[in-house]
Order: sequence, then C-alpha cells, then structure tokens
Amino acid sequence: MSVPSGTTGSELAALLRPAAEVLREGGVVAFPTETVYGLGASALDPAAVEAVFRAKGRPSDNPLIVHVSDLDGARPLAREVTPLAAKLAGAFWPGPLTLVLDADRTVPRITTGGLDTVAVRAPDHAVARELIRQSGVPLAAPSANRSGRPSPTTAAHVAADFPAGVDIIVDAGPCAVGIESTVVDCRGRDPVILRPGSITAEQLGTATPAALTGGLPDLAASPGTRHAHYRPAARVHVADIGSGPSRVAELVEQGTPVGYLGLTPVTDVSGVRILGMPRDTRDLAHLLYAALRQADDWGLEDVVIEAVPPIGVGVAVMDRIRRAAG
Ligand code: AMP
Ligand code: MG
Repeated sequence: MSVPSGTTGSELAALLRPAAEVLREGGVVAFPTETVYGLGASALDPAAVEAVFRAKGRPSDNPLIVHVSDLDGARPLAREVTPLAAKLAGAFWPGPLTLVLDADRTVPRITTGGLDTVAVRAPDHAVARELIRQSGVPLAAPSANRSGRPSPTTAAHVAADFPAGVDIIVDAGPCAVGIESTVVDCRGRDPVILRPGSITAEQLGTATPAALTGGLPDLAASPGTRHAHYRPAARVHVADIGSGPSRVAELVEQGTPVGYLGLTPVTDVSGVRILGMPRDTRDLAHLLYAALRQADDWGLEDVVIEAVPPIGVGVAVMDRIRRAAG
C-alpha cells in the first residue's frame, strides 16, 4: 500500500489501520523510517519476531532494534533507564539514535539476539510513529533487506528482496537519511558508540562531552557489526579522497564496465556508469545503498567509491563503504 506525500493526521491514521492490525496480530509489516525501511513485528511476540528472522535469513545472534514512541515507551523494556539514556533521548529523540540498556525480563531473548541488553529508538517518521501508536506494541524492526543485501531506502528495494512478499509493505517514498541509526551503549556513565550512524560523535558530544573522548567503538559489544554486510556482486574499489576520477580511468583502461560513486565529478572518461555524484557527504549517505543495488542491477564487475573525510557523518559513511568493499 502507498501513502501519498502530504498525507497527515487522521488520513494517515485511517490509511495505516490495516497495517497496525496486522502488527497487533503477530504479522510482519515493512515500513519507512527516516533512516531506512524496517521489517517490523511486535517485539514482545516471539513468534512474530521469529518470522522476521526467517524472512531476512538473519543469524539468530544478531539483535533487533525495538522502536518506540518516546522514553515512556522505552521504560517497560529496560531494567533501568539510566540518566545518560534519558539525557540522550531528550536531546535526539525522535531521531536516528539507538540506545542500548539492560533488558527487562519481559523482552523475549529472541528479540535481543540472546543478549541481556535491549536496543531502543524512537524513529522520526510519521508512518513509523503512527504504526507504533496504533498497534500499541513496541516494534522490532531490522532493516527490511535479506541478510547480506544493502539496506533498503525505497519500497521498491524491499519488494525486490522479498519476492514472496511480506504481509504489507507501506510505501511512503524514499528515506531521508539513507544509512542506519547510531547505536550507543548507555548502561554506564559515559556513552560508548557501538555503531557509527547518522547522529555523529560531534552531535553526541554537545549533549555529553565524554562521547568525544570515548575512543573507538567496541565492536565485540555490537553483534551486528561482526556479520558480513552490504556487499554487492561487483568488486568495490575505495579510492582516496579526490582520486575517484583517476582510479576510474585506470579501471576503464582494462576494458570492464566500471561504476562510480563519489564527490569528485568524473567528466572526461567514457565507459563509466555513474552511480552517483552527490554534492556532499550527507547526500552520499542518502544515495549509497541505492547505488550499490544499481551496481548489481547493471551487472557491473568493478565499482569505484571515493572516500569521504572521516568526520561527522563521514565516519558512518566510511564504515558502510568499507563493509561494502569486504
Ligand atoms: P539493523 O539491522 O540496522 O536494525 O541493526 C541492528 C543492529 O543494532 C545490530 O546488528 C547491532 O549491531 C545493534 N544492536 C541491536 N541490539 C543491540 C544490543 N542489545 N546490544 C548491542 N548492539 C545492538
Ligand atoms: Mg540491517
């Protein structure tokens, strides 16, 4: 089903009633958030969550993020909402920031990938928010792609990954951000970034100065970052900042079709398929996953992606580019 742009308030509530009903009854609904499309199910219903893992082909030790309306929606899921979590939620919710807390006993361990912690976030998208509100349950919603495929940023990407369908796909156009949320461990006094994302370390630092000095993400504590992710069939070559065009020229010389995504414009090379020449890093984040899918659809064997400066959202963008390069 699709949500025409400009749909608001009571119209949206009426349109989404069947999808909310499906969620309440243990079904699976794909819906947009501001980051990427999610494959949602009641986080408190083990059978519904199991259906999400099965549909995605997701390893059972890779935990799901639970989507709530606000901090009050998160409270029943956590043993304790720490002062740090309350502070960050106050500063960044609704928004692309996921908080990891000790899980309440009532959260099924299938949802948390077997961990005693739970990841929660309040998405900043009218459709996601209305589905959470109307279904009346917290929604476990990993990205709506088959495991190992790029995260979907349009409903068409979701449909391509699930040819047999999911109960409902809610199409509300492309996602604004295009890469996943920042995941922060909030159990202690200082935040620890477990997965870089759309909210930057600099932004976290404005709310909690310690975030800036938190050091490198603790990969062992963020299970999903261990799993293979986002790799297109093409070989992905990561070119240094500014050197995308010359890298493309080298590969074109060898005669195979080459795709290009980068900030530095390629102007004078024939035989290159342009996947995107965004104007800045945020714009590149927005295009990245669609470009990786396009590379597969075009059957490219080589793709050059130009590195971006690893500051701000560039940290998360480089993390995703490196994963795509394997
Ligand atoms: P996604 O597929 O974008 O929904 O990402 C979910 C990711 O969030 C997982 O792969 C983990 O990296 C992270 N995550 C979810 N729950 C937890 C948790 N309890 N502890 C640490 N990281 C988590
Ligand atoms: Mg994912």
